[in-house]
Amino acid sequence: MLLELEDVRVAYGRIEALHGISIGIDQGEVVALIGANGAGKTTTMRAISGLLNLTGGRIRFNGEDISKLRADLRVVRGLCQSPEGRGIFPGMTVAENLDMGAYTRRDRQGVADDLKRVYGLFPRLEERSKQSAGTLSGGEQQMCAIGRALMARPKVLLLDEPSMGLAPMLIQQIFNIITEISQQGTTILVVEQNAQQALSRAHRAYVLETGRIVKEGTGAELLVDPAVKEAYLGVA
Ligand code: ATP
Repeated sequence: MLLELEDVRVAYGRIEALHGISIGIDQGEVVALIGANGAGKTTTMRAISGLLNLTGGRIRFNGEDISKLRADLRVVRGLCQSPEGRGIFPGMTVAENLDMGAYTRRDRQGVADDLKRVYGLFPRLEERSKQSAGTLSGGEQQMCAIGRALMARPKVLLLDEPSMGLAPMLIQQIFNIITEISQQGTTILVVEQNAQQALSRAHRAYVLETGRIVKEGTGAELLVDPAVKEAYLGVA
């Protein structure tokens, strides 16, 4: 496994939000984490990227125990998150935001190549490269956040709710791009409330309920699972 969470616990003060979850992601996979509001999806992402400390368990990346590694060093190792709510720098231009994604890199040619790749995936960002990111539409900001994360050339891209606030057509488009990023060789963990899209795109998925993994399987298996259908796909 490229990324492995083993019995991970996270607490906010005295309240435990993750009660020992185990998740594994293989090289090249797209893995989805689905769950209702407050299930602990964002908490899981923040624990992986090092923004929250574990109160139990461990996280291994590429064979190394990174449970206590600083967040910035996890980025250097190749774990990169595109946060929920986008988290772009609104006062900077699109190009400057993308450049910030590459701040730990010294390989200038590689960075230039990746910028071309990001503009290839998101032509809209190239058109708007000089526009301040705060004035982009919601969908464009999402593209900018994903593009910025890609500029770190991650081994694993962590996507927190990439479809949040987007119109149905754009959701489709963002997931098409996620599939394309995966086909270009990046491993992806995606957290989603849009279970239909996430499950139909993911190789495997985990269902998180109030801080516990209650189900796992291939995307195809979970799409037809009666309990998943009822709880997350809006069909009985
Ligand atoms: P959503 O889909 O609504 O974003 P989520 O699955 O991402 O939900 P989390 O944001 O991980 O859920 O929250 C998990 C639990 O931890 C919730 O009960 C939430 O209230 C709690 N929680 C999250 N952040 C904090 C915090 N900073 N302080 C205290 N409790 C928190």
